[in-house]
Formats: sequence, structure tokens, C-alpha cells
Amino acid sequence: MNDAELLRYSRHILLPQIGITGQKALIRSHVLIVGAGGLGSPAAMYLAASGVGRLTICDNDTVDLTNLQRQIAHSTDRIGMTKVSSAKETLGGINPEVNVIALNERVDENRLLDLAADADVVVDASDNFSTRYAINRVCIILKKPLVSGAVVRFDGQVAVFDLRHVHSPCYHCLFPAGGEDQDMRCAVMGVFAPLVGIIGCTQAAETLKILLDIGKTLNGRLLVLDGLTMEWRSTKLNKDSSCEVCCADEGVRISEQAVQT
Ligand SMILES: [Zn+2]
Repeated sequence: MNDAELLRYSRHILLPQIGITGQKALIRSHVLIVGAGGLGSPAAMYLAASGVGRLTICDNDTVDLTNLQRQIAHSTDRIGMTKVSSAKETLGGINPEVNVIALNERVDENRLLDLAADADVVVDASDNFSTRYAINRVCIILKKPLVSGAVVRFDGQVAVFDLRHVHSPCYHCLFPAGGEDQDMRCAVMGVFAPLVGIIGCTQAAETLKILLDIGKTLNGRLLVLDGLTMEWRSTKLNKDSSCEVCCADEGVRISEQAVQT
């Protein structure tokens, strides 16, 4: 690290859990963020500020006036611009040391397999169930840690599915039913602006902890936030041995049963 980097990251380096070794690990890291909206904005901004060396962000939307109430990577003068170009400008302004790969695409499972292959962590900041299920399947196949978040109205939730470990639950264990019919309803529901900041920042914190291998992540736990009472509820998640996505492989199911007995 050069002098400017030592200064930029000094408040991280002062933390014994991070230090120079941890900061160098962040600089070497690559995080894939799916979605550059309400959750993706704060998640990407904190990951860039923290010095994660490479951020790949994908989203196929353009900045709209109705986004600006909560999608803080974007600004009024960027209405009409692609969200990923707008986010790249914001992130470059915060930390020009970060290599931001901005992809103006709606990614399907095959594309995600390519993009996630050399990512250390995948952040799900998407806004629809088909993308969430695709990200989950890809993280199972590639054995990647998945940091998942969602917000609607005054309700937020965040969880980690560390799919590097065969006994970790997956997103589908938690939400087995297809929620495609809910997407339309969610798209027209209100969102309390700071909730996406709270959940997106929590996703950034969990991502950094995974990259640094420090503390205890939310793996196997779901945190649910009621923004009106500001009460957090933590629920332990178990792998569903009948999950058709992560337990489809008979070998996994057998080893899972062996652990339980
Ligand atoms: Zn599962």
C-alpha cells in the first residue's frame, strides 16, 4: 500500500481485526452486486469506500425521478442515465482506487454463472424473485457466500447463505414457494427510504466480515427489521433436507442426514 492508501484506510488499519493484512485482503477482493437500486446503492458505496478492490455491478434500469427518494447512489442530474453508469460515477468519486465494472444488463442464470465465478461474495440487491432464485442457484453451484437483503414498506430483512459450506441453508430453504406473483405487487408498494439504507449497509458489513473472515456472520440467521418499532428479530435458519435446490444432489442429502443422526 502506498502512503495515500495507508491514510485512506487508516481507520480500518487501526482496528486490530483488520489491520494492514485485512485491508490488503479487501483490496484483493472482488464482490458481485446484483442491483444498483435502493439496496445496491448503499451496499456498493460502503464497499467502495472500504476499499474492496473490484466491484461488479449489474442492473438494466435507468435512473428515474421516483428512484431518488431512496437510491442514494443516483442524483437528479442523472435522470435517464443507466443506473450502473450513475453508480460507477458515484463510486469513482468516493474511491478512485476501486475497479468498478458496470454492466447494464438484466442477468439470467447463465450470465450470473460467468460473473460470479471469480467473485468472493455475491450481494443480492435485486428486486424480483426470479433473479433472487437465479442468484441462489448460482451460489450453490459455485459455492459462493450469498448476502441477501430485501425491503418493502417499513419491513426489512437480511440474511447470509454461506454456500461454501454444504450444510448451510440456501435462500430457497427459507422461501420455497415461487414469489413471481408477488413481484408485481412489490413494484407498486411504498418503501420507507432509510430502510434500504439500513439493510443495504448491513449487507455491506456482512460482506466485509466474510472477506476478512472476522466475527460471526449472519450465516444461518435471518434478521427481520420492523422499521416502525425499530425492533430486530433474529431467526435461526435450518437447511431444509427436502429443498429441491440445495438438496437435489443425493450425496448432499445423505451427508446431511449423517450429520443429523
Ligand atoms: Zn435450500
